[in-house]
Amino acid sequence: MGGGSGWETVIGLETHVQLRTVSKMFCGCSAAFGAPPNTNICPVCLGLPGALPMPNEHALKLAVRAALGLGCTVHPRSLFARKNYFYPDLPKGYQISQFENPLATDGSLSYLSPDRGIATATIVRLHVEEDAGKSLHDRFPKVTAVDLNRCGVPLIEIVTGPDFRSPQEARAYLLTLKQVLEYAGISDCDMEKGSLRVDANVSVRRAGDTALGTKTEVKNINSFAYVEKALSVERDRQIAALEGGGMVVQETMLYDAKTNSVRPQRRKEESHDYRYFPDPDLPPLVLSAELIAAQQTELPELPAAKRERFVAQYALSTTDAAVLTAERAVADYYESVVRAGAEPKAAANWVMGEVLADAKDHAERLRVPAAALAQLIALVRGGTVSHQAAKRVFVEVAERGGEPRTVAEALGLVQVADAGVLVGWVNDVLGAHTGEVSRYKSGETKLLQFFVGQVMRASRGKADPKVTQRLLEEKLAS
Ligand code: ADP
Ligand code: ZN
Ligand code: MG
Repeated sequence: MGGGSGWETVIGLETHVQLRTVSKMFCGCSAAFGAPPNTNICPVCLGLPGALPMPNEHALKLAVRAALGLGCTVHPRSLFARKNYFYPDLPKGYQISQFENPLATDGSLSYLSPDRGIATATIVRLHVEEDAGKSLHDRFPKVTAVDLNRCGVPLIEIVTGPDFRSPQEARAYLLTLKQVLEYAGISDCDMEKGSLRVDANVSVRRAGDTALGTKTEVKNINSFAYVEKALSVERDRQIAALEGGGMVVQETMLYDAKTNSVRPQRRKEESHDYRYFPDPDLPPLVLSAELIAAQQTELPELPAAKRERFVAQYALSTTDAAVLTAERAVADYYESVVRAGAEPKAAANWVMGEVLADAKDHAERLRVPAAALAQLIALVRGGTVSHQAAKRVFVEVAERGGEPRTVAEALGLVQVADAGVLVGWVNDVLGAHTGEVSRYKSGETKLLQFFVGQVMRASRGKADPKVTQRLLEEKLAS
């Protein structure tokens, strides 16, 4: 699997996710993305002398909910620790994180591996921490600027075991993780905005070896597609080094998307380099059983469970159920359409087709109300409008609103099933195609569809095809 023949790839991911809160982790500053540089700061998040941190209760609740959603054991008592290092974007000189005694441990997340089917990643730990600021290298020529707005923004870090066997698996896991966290309202998980960031650890070993090879850590990966690319490049580099008789040095690599290459950033720190110690300003984090239970209740049905239920309850294929449950809003919408009376399979086809296409072009908005789509589906089923015409009605309702039936009438798209009206078109068509009529009568019955098509044309799509076909058969039999 993965890499040159005879090599196995091993990957473990450390994912930082920004919690969806209004304010920061230990102060009241806004956690909003995109504010003018250095406007959301105060003595606490700058670490000025005498300032005291106070944990953000909502952030803690979201962290607990995330941990429960990932099947972790949430510990009633955990510790905040200082992770000390010097960097221009960290004026405090340390980050508040958790080291020994993290918030949660021992979870798992199943995802669909492109190589192995359903695979399960272990979640080794999930802890709470605060973000650092940001160095901006492209703001002013030749100098680095620092924006401290991000200092103190609440994060969780989710660490997997060395469980992935290909870059594709790592990506599939991350997309599944994003789905779960979005469903549960933990984060918007936007890699481009930095609300989900991943450090990818990778090593290679000879197929069949059980000991792990020396790993490197790849950073600066800022899209889901780059996760796969960056890991492939680094995996290939390691294999080439080992096959060339060299070795892999444990270090941090930076990915450059422009050149699709990696370069060493620095020798990897060991945890003792950070001089972790319990933060003297923060007492142990004690969570009540009630708080944990309340977060369990807040957890919605998660994507995997919803997908399985859709298969069982609506007789959908796994693939269709996966598309419909990829986003919670779409899944909810689909179920509203069915609840409004639409047949589940027809509703699935409409949502996966017209609805998702329309949403894609309109900022992910679901523009046709569920009840209206159910009515439109019923109009097609009852033969009032053709499937083709219904698509036009859909667009009209999306753009301008209105009841599908009224819109179909206004657009002149209601099918004509009245035999008295249809017979006029039928007679015209048969009169205009006497050659085909005699061929039909001498046994070429497949011409029936030709006549139906001609009537559809003459009626500009309004003739009801079933009634038309019956009328034609009657006329041609006489
Ligand atoms: P470190 O102390 O260097 O941070 P950890 O043991 O904390 O290393 O692991 C960090 C991440 O690296 C985890 O996701 C883990 O699964 C992964 N990892 C550890 N060893 C390896 C390895 N040899 N190859 C690939 N990934 C690894
Ligand atoms: Zn602040
Ligand atoms: Mg570590």
